[in-house]
Amino acid sequence: MNNLTLQDILNAFRTPPSDERKKVISRAYELAVKAHEGQKRRSGEDYVQHPIAVAIILAGLGMGGKTISAGLLHDVPEDTPIPLAEVEKQFGKEIASLVDGVTKLGKIKLRGSHEEYYLENLRKMLLAMATDIRVVIIKLADRLHNMRTLEHNPPDKQIRIARETMEVFAPIANRLGMGEMKSQLQDLSFKYLDQENFELVKDLEEKHYKEKEKYVLQAIKELETEMKKAGVAVLETSGRAKSVYSLFLKMKKHDMDINRVYDLAAVRIIVSEVADCYETLGIVHKKYRPMIGRIKDYVSLPKPNGYQSIHTTVFGPDGRIIEVQIRTKKMHSEAEFGIAAHWIYSESKKKKWKDYIFRTAQKSEPVKEIEWVKQLREWQTEIGRDDEEFIESLNIDFFKNHIFAFTPLGDIIDLPEEATPIDFAYAIHGEIGNHAVGAKINNKMVSLDHHIKNGEVVDILTSKDRKGPNQDWLKFVKTSAAKSHIKRELRKEGLIK
Ligand code: MN
Repeated sequence: MNNLTLQDILNAFRTPPSDERKKVISRAYELAVKAHEGQKRRSGEDYVQHPIAVAIILAGLGMGGKTISAGLLHDVPEDTPIPLAEVEKQFGKEIASLVDGVTKLGKIKLRGSHEEYYLENLRKMLLAMATDIRVVIIKLADRLHNMRTLEHNPPDKQIRIARETMEVFAPIANRLGMGEMKSQLQDLSFKYLDQENFELVKDLEEKHYKEKEKYVLQAIKELETEMKKAGVAVLETSGRAKSVYSLFLKMKKHDMDINRVYDLAAVRIIVSEVADCYETLGIVHKKYRPMIGRIKDYVSLPKPNGYQSIHTTVFGPDGRIIEVQIRTKKMHSEAEFGIAAHWIYSESKKKKWKDYIFRTAQKSEPVKEIEWVKQLREWQTEIGRDDEEFIESLNIDFFKNHIFAFTPLGDIIDLPEEATPIDFAYAIHGEIGNHAVGAKINNKMVSLDHHIKNGEVVDILTSKDRKGPNQDWLKFVKTSAAKSHIKRELRKEGLIK
């Protein structure tokens, strides 16, 4: 058995850690080793190997010294004689509160139906997220390592944990834009939940990808030459295979026919500037004929979880179909690490996560995943954290597909699918919602229950004469923000209880 040590944590850093950072991590390491002394995992290895592995995952995500230290100590108050107060005494309030947050997330009562359990789980994760998102990132790292070592558990526990990972943890990683974390959690769960399909898809992928790899490598070579000729600097090129679970989902859509999955093999080109992305797209299309209707520009219109890239499917070398993904370095690290990618910027500038989360969005600059975290927090403070109505509606909002709509000034508003101008109005401001009388989309009048589509420009018309929201709006609004605002106003007026 390969025993992990402090050095492995330090080696996992993407950029070498400062001395100050090293110091706090090594103190946390010492305490974790001491606290868990004599404890074993089911696998037979020393228990402390688990928190060390969690710390390594966190370092690889680019998290800072405090988060990594909390990762090392995350099981200490719960499973050892050393209490939280001692952690606080030695490491201060911030690290102690991260550890406490993770401990509380772990205490989910196993009672009632699967549904109740699922909702309770989700609710806790969402509340933790609104309080300090680092707690959720530590929890995801904890879960990733537990999934990697799940084989040592009894079968019924394997299924329960894998199901929870697939239904709660992977979607949260996705919502945080952590693509790499999401794929790993899904693939590891898939193996336990549906072993037959897992093996089938994995074997198919290996076979087909091998076949395609030759063309992918040839395309990389040819495109690099073309880019050089055109004078566009390439930072990195690579071939990538789809994750097993996402390939399975795609295949299910196409009657399990792998030949109809066009992005099984992709070429990834990383350039330095946004403008280079578009220039590269032109170069790719000049070299290889594009497939009609398969160009996706997530650079000018990012996915709601913040993902940015240009995708195009082309007839590559020998007329073989391949996908080409073009993005900048920054887009690439955000696609893999999501919200965690921002720590590198924020911690190096000695800023707190809150400064990032609450930073107001620049006009016309995509707000990305941060906007909904901000919303989450606003609703929570407005309504109070124990309001059942809030929690229930939040569950509904959270995993719905999202769309982006624009204000006439170009600000981006993140909304669930089928959201209406009233949802849009309340997403901007409570008073705008309360005084809305009409809406224009792309300069045409629409009804207030119109379903907004991705990319539409919405202009809300307001009037001072309007006294407050209309009770009928409750029949069609889609967001919890709108619902709770409307209800609160109607209550004030005594129109509802
Ligand atoms: Mn743990």
